[in-house]
Amino acid sequence: MELNSASKEQLAQWEQDLAAEYQAIKAKQLNLDLTRGKPSSEQLSLSDAMDGILNGDYKTADGTDTRNYGGLDGIAEIQAIGAEILTAPVENVLAGGNSSLTLMHQAMSVAYFFGLNGADSAWSKESTVKFLCPVPGYDRHFAVCEHLGIEMVTVPMTANGPDMDVVEKLVAEDHAIKGMWCVPKYSNPTGVVYSDETVQRIAALGKVAAANFRVFWDNAYGVHDLSAEPVALASIFDACKAAGTEDSVLQFASTSKITFAGAGVAFMAASSANLAGFKKSLGFMTIGPDKINQLRHAKFFAAPGSLKAHMEKHAAIIKPRFASVLSHLEEAFGNNDLGQWESADGGYFISFDTRPGLAKEVVKLAGEAGVKLTPAGATFPYGNDPQDANIRIAPTVPTVAQVDEAMKVFVTCVKLASVRQALAA
Ligand code: PMP
Repeated sequence: MELNSASKEQLAQWEQDLAAEYQAIKAKQLNLDLTRGKPSSEQLSLSDAMDGILNGDYKTADGTDTRNYGGLDGIAEIQAIGAEILTAPVENVLAGGNSSLTLMHQAMSVAYFFGLNGADSAWSKESTVKFLCPVPGYDRHFAVCEHLGIEMVTVPMTANGPDMDVVEKLVAEDHAIKGMWCVPKYSNPTGVVYSDETVQRIAALGKVAAANFRVFWDNAYGVHDLSAEPVALASIFDACKAAGTEDSVLQFASTSKITFAGAGVAFMAASSANLAGFKKSLGFMTIGPDKINQLRHAKFFAAPGSLKAHMEKHAAIIKPRFASVLSHLEEAFGNNDLGQWESADGGYFISFDTRPGLAKEVVKLAGEAGVKLTPAGATFPYGNDPQDANIRIAPTVPTVAQVDEAMKVFVTCVKLASVRQALAA
C-alpha cells in the first residue's frame, strides 16, 4: 500500500475495502486490551514458590530478625541481588519496599525539598526547576515531575538512547535543568538499549551541568531479556567513577516484573554521599522496609544463576506475544511508510509511530472496534504528543491468540486512518 503515489480513485477503493473490513471486525464485538504493562498471571505464578519459603525461619545470615523494625538499607542478602541487577557495588545499594516508583518519588522529593547534599542543595531554592524527559517515555515519570511542579523539557529518543547532542547542549546552557529521566535498557516504550557511547556521555553530564544535577537512571528492565544473547548495557556506575561524577546519577530497579508486581522489592544504587543524603530524610518516613519480603526474595534467588534461569521462564512466556506484534507490523508496514517501530529485544512494550496526526484517530478506531490501547499522548509530558504519532503497545497480559486478534484490528485501523488522511489531503 503506497499512499504517496496512489491516485484518488485507488485511495477511494482502498478506503471502501478497509471500511468494510473494519465494520466486519466491529460486528465481532471484541473485548481485547493492549494497554497494560504488567505481568500476566502465568508470569506471576512463576514466583508462587516464595509463599511459605521461610518456613518459620525469619533470621538473616547475620542473625537479624526480619519481623522487627529497623535496617533502613535493607538486608544484606537482598542488597546483593540489587547489586547484581544494577551492576553496582553492594555497599552502594539500598533495598526498600515494593515499588521503585515510590523510591524515585521519594528521592526526587528529597532532592527538591531538602537537598541530597544539605539544605542549600535543595532544588526548591530556585525559581524554576526543569527536568529533561526523553520522548516517548514513561508516563509515571512525567507524572512525578508534574506532581512536584517541575517543568519538563522533551528530548527526542534515537535508536541509541536520548539524542545526546541535544541533551549536552541543554544541560550546559540552562542551569535550571536539574536532572533527566532515563530508562536505559529496553526503554519504556521504545525498547531501545542505550549504547556504550550514550552511557559515557550521560556519565559526563555531571561535569557541565548545574550544581545538584541528578540523572534518574530507572533500570526497570535490566534483566528482562528476550533473546539468548542480549545486548549488554554499560555500567553507569563505572562510567561515573571514571568521569569523577559519582554524585550525578541515582539508579533504580525492582523485582516488580521479576517476581510479583505488587509485592516485589525495590532498589536504589547511588554514591555514598547521595545515599547518606537520601537516608537522612528516609529515616523520617519509615523505621525500615518489609524485611520479611526481602528475605523471601533472597531465599528464592539464593542459588547462583537462579535469577537468570527465572528470567528465561518469563521470556518464554512473553516472546510469542512480542513475535505476534512484530510479525503483524512487519507484514502490514514492512514495505511502506504507514508506520515505524523498533523491534525490542526485551522489556514490556513495542512503540509504534503512525504518520503524523493519526495516533488519536487510530486509538479511537481500535477502541470502537473492541481493542483498548493506551491513550495517544500518554508517552509524552502533559499527555501531549506534538506529532500525534506515538502509540504504546503492551502485549504481555492477553493470550497469544488475543494478541494476534488485537493486532489484526490494529493494523486495519492504522491503514484505514492513513488512507482517510491521504484522501482528505
Ligand atoms: N519504571 C518503569 C520504566 C516502568 O515501566 C515501571 C512499570 N511499568 C516502573 C518503573 C514501576 O516499577 P515499580 O513497580 O517498581 O514501582
